[in-house]
Amino acid sequence: MNQRVIPIKAGGFTLPSTTGPLVGEPVDTLGRGIRDLRISVTDRCNFRCSYCMPKSVFNREFKFMPHDSLLSFEEIERVARIFVDQGVQKIRITGGEPLLRKHLERLIEMLAKLPVELTLTTNASLLAKKAQSLKDAGLQRVTVSLDALDDETFKKMNDMDFPVSDVLEGIDAAAAVGLGPVKINMVVKKGVNEHAILPMVRHFKGSGHVVRFIEYMDVGSSNGWKMDEVLPSRDVVALINDEFAIEPANPNYRGEVARRWKFKDGSGEVGVISSVTEAFCSTCTRLRLSPEGSLYTCLFAQQGHDIRQLLRGGANDEALARTIQGIWQQRGDRYSEIRTADTAAAKKIEMSYIGG
Ligand code: SAM
Ligand code: SF4
Ligand code: SF4
Repeated sequence: MNQRVIPIKAGGFTLPSTTGPLVGEPVDTLGRGIRDLRISVTDRCNFRCSYCMPKSVFNREFKFMPHDSLLSFEEIERVARIFVDQGVQKIRITGGEPLLRKHLERLIEMLAKLPVELTLTTNASLLAKKAQSLKDAGLQRVTVSLDALDDETFKKMNDMDFPVSDVLEGIDAAAAVGLGPVKINMVVKKGVNEHAILPMVRHFKGSGHVVRFIEYMDVGSSNGWKMDEVLPSRDVVALINDEFAIEPANPNYRGEVARRWKFKDGSGEVGVISSVTEAFCSTCTRLRLSPEGSLYTCLFAQQGHDIRQLLRGGANDEALARTIQGIWQQRGDRYSEIRTADTAAAKKIEMSYIGG
């Protein structure tokens, strides 16, 4: 059994970092403990990224979740607290676009009291306005999604005419209030924004922010994913290395999703996330809580486990903990290791619902 061997510092707490369980903590059928909880606080978004919420599906007729079906902040905090007792060390707030959830700072304030690393992923459309209040509430870091630095390509990706300058302003505001180092996620779609890779590297090199290039994934059932639209991370690395000498760096902790590459001139690093061409399921310790209280043990899950019923039906913490343990102990997910054209075409939960 793995022990707590690699301490990492996060927000004043020294956190352990392993994929294995600690004594008494649940382990899934592949020997993985629960370490990361991703909490999606809304299924709504003000962008329509073609790879996530294409307009053809997420249009005026699309039925988003009614407000009263969403978990309250008190319910989310309760679930999170129980998860921390099961081994969770990191909590990421996501969505949809999490900054669209009203009074999110109140939830952050509640979660910040738990002994976890607390982060948030956002499209940054509202970040310049909210960075200070998020920091004051106790958020530690943000990850910002940005798919190109030129407006033409970025607008094509977000499909809502949203300009790059507002996202950059959000990144600056986050760094200025101490929500850095900011990680910047760029989904790479072959033939659509691959020309934006090098400008992104040039722009953020030396800034202290870390750009991570994500392989376009077959999440959900709406984006019409095809393997030939995936630019393998090894090609991204080769492209960057042609202009800037880079070398592999050790992971910050075991189970880190992004492969790190540092600039040989010491001016920082970039990362690649290769969910399609180099699966990392064997160290996957992530679990997702949907806005209406279903647990998903894999990003590519076809169904979740409803715990809202228990929460609202008077179950005590012990019963909830037992349910969570049972769900985790049955987990055998390793989708990216067994992906085929058929699995890609299967009906899966949307990423805008359970978060990245
Ligand atoms: N709206 C927020 C944002 O975009 O940052 C948070 C939610 S979004 C679903 C989380 C992450 O998932 C984003 O970084 C986004 O780029 C990524 N994502 C969404 N669809 C994807 C896909 N098909 N392949 C790879 N990454 C995807
Ligand atoms: Fe919205 Fe994020 Fe999905 Fe883009 S990736 S549509 S910003 S939820
Ligand atoms: Fe984890 Fe599922 Fe992704 Fe594999 S495919 S890394 S099990 S979320």
